[in-house]
Amino acid sequence: MKAIRFHEFGSPEVLKHEDVPEPQLRDDQVLVRVKACALNHLDLWVRKGLPGVRLPHINGSDVAGEIEQVGAYISDLKKGQRVLLAPMVFCNHCQECVSGRQNMCRQFTVLGNLVDGGNCELIAIPRVNVIPLPDHLGYNEAASVPLVFLTAWHMLVGRSQIRPGQTVLILGGGSGVGSAAIQISKMFGATVIATAGDENKLEKSKALGADHLINHYKQKIADEVRTITSKAGVDIVFEHVGQATWDESVRSLKPGGVLVTCGATTGPEAKFDIRVLFVKQLSFLGSYMGTMGELHEVLKHVFSGKLRPVIDKTFPLSEARVAHERLEKSEQFGKIILNP
Ligand SMILES: [Zn+2]
Repeated sequence: MKAIRFHEFGSPEVLKHEDVPEPQLRDDQVLVRVKACALNHLDLWVRKGLPGVRLPHINGSDVAGEIEQVGAYISDLKKGQRVLLAPMVFCNHCQECVSGRQNMCRQFTVLGNLVDGGNCELIAIPRVNVIPLPDHLGYNEAASVPLVFLTAWHMLVGRSQIRPGQTVLILGGGSGVGSAAIQISKMFGATVIATAGDENKLEKSKALGADHLINHYKQKIADEVRTITSKAGVDIVFEHVGQATWDESVRSLKPGGVLVTCGATTGPEAKFDIRVLFVKQLSFLGSYMGTMGELHEVLKHVFSGKLRPVIDKTFPLSEARVAHERLEKSEQFGKIILNP
């Protein structure tokens, strides 16, 4: 089969469209023909080189496709069914897994991170990862959903326990995770302040439901938040930008506020005044992906149309390099999709 694979870490040039062996299906697995695979920032990090990634490697976390074959142990799925894949790998028998906290399993990894992912034509995956799709949801839409909506759901609902009436500051409303966060926050009856780096992304954030907009290149985020909230600050800051926005994010919190983060796109170093942390009684929460239970929960709202996947652009799988460059330059609004 064809796949996008890289044999060394580096810039988008390392991505090769080449022939690779087809996966061997185990009796407890499902073989899925990939129809769409969405890009995530994780793909860029893995391509540049993350600890534990073995070469050669196939990227790709968010997969939608059609069942090609089912293993002998599986009786409730059949060839031809349209499915999406849960973008995570876990042991499924440790205490954390059986308690429903798969993202705390010692073997937990994101599909396409420490194991080969879906930038290919066929993928073999355990039954637990395979989720049937409703007819009305296309493959590109389905592939746009899992990682970003699950990540945003776990951050806002699982970790921050968002409530109606709260105010949420969402950094990078134009990103995949940001556009999911805007919609989830609105679904929970919160007021949303979204930031973005250009007018086009601000307009699109507004169309998704953002109540207030901040251009994070032209305006000081915390000053704008202060004006918008009549000096109160926000209940929740939704962070994934990291170093470039950390100070502004902390300054934007109201007393008792929560900063929840899932990423550090602009850099991992942050500094803060411990006195601010205890005097303002702030909470800093880390969040990594989400659980299988949360994925099923958020998908219900996607399948019912309450939450809408946002697609930026689609590329043939063979043009993965161009797709990576687009994401690297932050030119996208929503998800970039590869079609094998
Ligand atoms: Zn486990």
